[in-house]
Amino acid sequence: MTSASGKGPRLLLGAPIAAEIRATVEREVSAFRGKRGYAPALAVLIVGRDAPSAVYLNQILKSCAKVGIEGRLVEVPGRASAAAVRAEIERLNADTQVAGIIVQMPLPKRIPLSTVIDTLDPAKDIDGLHPRNAGLMTLGYEGFLPTTAHAAVELLKRSGIQIAGMRAVVVGRSNVVGKPAALLLLRENATVTICHSRTADLARHLKDAEIVIVAAGSPGLVTGRMLRKGAVVVDVGINVVDDRLVGDVDFASASKVASAITPVPGGVGPVTNALLLTHLVRAAQDQAQASPGHRNGALQPVGSRQ
Ligand code: NAD
Repeated sequence: MTSASGKGPRLLLGAPIAAEIRATVEREVSAFRGKRGYAPALAVLIVGRDAPSAVYLNQILKSCAKVGIEGRLVEVPGRASAAAVRAEIERLNADTQVAGIIVQMPLPKRIPLSTVIDTLDPAKDIDGLHPRNAGLMTLGYEGFLPTTAHAAVELLKRSGIQIAGMRAVVVGRSNVVGKPAALLLLRENATVTICHSRTADLARHLKDAEIVIVAAGSPGLVTGRMLRKGAVVVDVGINVVDDRLVGDVDFASASKVASAITPVPGGVGPVTNALLLTHLVRAAQDQAQASPGHRNGALQPVGSRQ
């Protein structure tokens, strides 16, 4: 697929991929329901409400409803203590119908991230926040992947972009996007460079890259002049500029150079939402199969699942 004019780069659109993923999830949820007699639930914990996260959370809850997953919004007041947040997570950990828990970030400054990480059951950590899941990913075992990073790489794979043997640059090294995206590209046999805010010459690294994933939170950071002709560009950034959503890549100039590029919005975002549902279904299936107390049992290398 190319841009509307027929010229320019191929647009890597998230919606058709998300629809394909959701169709599979819907079938799996229906089979789960038939076998177990209840719909798996996703709990979305939010500590203090703000407008942008409300929009995102509503999208998640709507996506759940569409495929038969029970979406539960669990709200803790913004002024609540860390102990109250911990107690709420413990309650959700113990709820056998809740297969997955996501906690909306950022947390209020008073509440350290460790409150969540130390409490969340890794078997329900479907957004790959827990060090156990991060460790499993790093060592190449099945765990829950950070969903946005998973989406960036899955979008490439499902678009038929060759990753093996390619030189890839990831811009950003956060634990939720950049670092896991780099590890997942490595898993797909790319040769990976990670750039970040202290990288001395970003353009020099980008000039060499056949695949570029940008997750910096800096609007227009990557321009066409920095890119290699024919590069495949995945823009994870979501920034609001003059009331518009824009990515970290300057789309106009990058489109003149790239062979394929994701739009913002409409690229990684929809795939992220759909993949989160696949993580939830997997968590539900694993928990339903596991005998009590053996949730974190035998490690499975990636690709070994039936
Ligand atoms: P973050 O702030 O935690 O990390 C940003 C990273 O970018 C850091 O590692 C930093 O070193 C690097 N960076 C910043 N400025 C840079 C520069 N000038 N040159 C090189 N590297 C630079 O952000 P994050 O949580 O990783 O999110 C990144 C972006 O992705 C944000 O725009 C965020 O809104 C977006 N995001 C999108 C989704 C989605 O579903 N599409 C999900 C989560 C985050």
